[in-house]
Amino acid sequence: MKLANRVQRVGESATLAVSRQAKELRASGIDVIDFSAGEPDFDSPPSAVEAACKALREGKTRYTAATGLPELRHAVAADYNQRYGAPWSGDNVVITVGGKAALFELALATVGVGDEVVIPLPYWVTFPEQVRLAGGDPVFVETSVDDGFRLRADAVCSRLSERTRVVILNSPSNPTGRLIERGDLEQIVERCAERGILVIADETYDRFVFGDEPFASAAPLAHRFGDVVVVVGSFSKTYAMTGWRIGYMLGPPDVVRAVGTIQSHATSNPTTFAMYGALAALGEAESRVEEMLRAYRGRRALIERLLADLPGVRCAAPVGAFYVFPEVSECYRDGRQGSVEFSRFLLEKARVAVVPGIAFGCDDHIRISFACSEERLQTGLDRIRDAIL
Ligand code: GLU
Repeated sequence: MKLANRVQRVGESATLAVSRQAKELRASGIDVIDFSAGEPDFDSPPSAVEAACKALREGKTRYTAATGLPELRHAVAADYNQRYGAPWSGDNVVITVGGKAALFELALATVGVGDEVVIPLPYWVTFPEQVRLAGGDPVFVETSVDDGFRLRADAVCSRLSERTRVVILNSPSNPTGRLIERGDLEQIVERCAERGILVIADETYDRFVFGDEPFASAAPLAHRFGDVVVVVGSFSKTYAMTGWRIGYMLGPPDVVRAVGTIQSHATSNPTTFAMYGALAALGEAESRVEEMLRAYRGRRALIERLLADLPGVRCAAPVGAFYVFPEVSECYRDGRQGSVEFSRFLLEKARVAVVPGIAFGCDDHIRISFACSEERLQTGLDRIRDAIL
């Protein structure tokens, strides 16, 4: 039996693969500290849990429209209008099975064989793979650790070609935690609009921003460039609802229609009672989001301190999201050369799971998620320290 060629073009998600390995080790009784997948350790908001249970009890167990529960589409649009002054209505929204499905369906809707998609590097592991699954070619824009991983508009624009269909932006960035500066963002969107190139802004971590630098969302740019601006978001990180699998995209009507059509053949609507839970989270769980933000702030300060103490490790403090992406190549030795071997070494010797930087395009780095307790962070970093000294 021969598998489709597209399967040869991609590998398993590294974030999920390491997380699976860590879970297996823990199930076999080994105390692994898991810094791999970005998964909040907080409980989902009680109001969301109660609303989902109530929906089940009330028999809200049937299909909705493929694009999702109309009330939730409207609530998501209203949230973006209120927070960012975006111009969208519920008709501009598709509710999807996590932000990941929104991105995948967008790739299928906009990218064909031989089309190019410009992606900043380091990148979240799934961006290039989804482009490849759609038949397209990722084109990377390198950013540099010495420049704090700033994504410069000129660098993006210099990679646009006749074949470019889409530019994917991710701010705050997974894995670097860096924000795109407003001037760079506006310039990129303007240049893309001139050429009819879609800009997909994955803003999954927009609620987790720590510094004084204000977060610049692409959403308000839809007033001027409504034909080309798409924003993707998710309930997973914002409300600690990863397993619920509820995300969304907001954008122009033709893109919404195409994504809705694809979704009508792919998943149909996301799980109905989960959407009722998400609706309650959006309306009632703001204080939980602020609580989590405070906790992440503390964890970020702690990990920054602990990393600064590790010899051979260089790391800029992230401004957003809940990852650090330290440069660790000075710790490489025989048997632990490169980020894959080094991560394996940390798992075997320190019992700490991290994601190899190569999965994000940077072999000199590893990614550590700090979506876990300060106690786990302290223990994990102590173990890493003992292992590399
Ligand atoms: N997005 C999170 C991460 O980067 C969760 C796992 C995944 O889907 O990649 O760790």
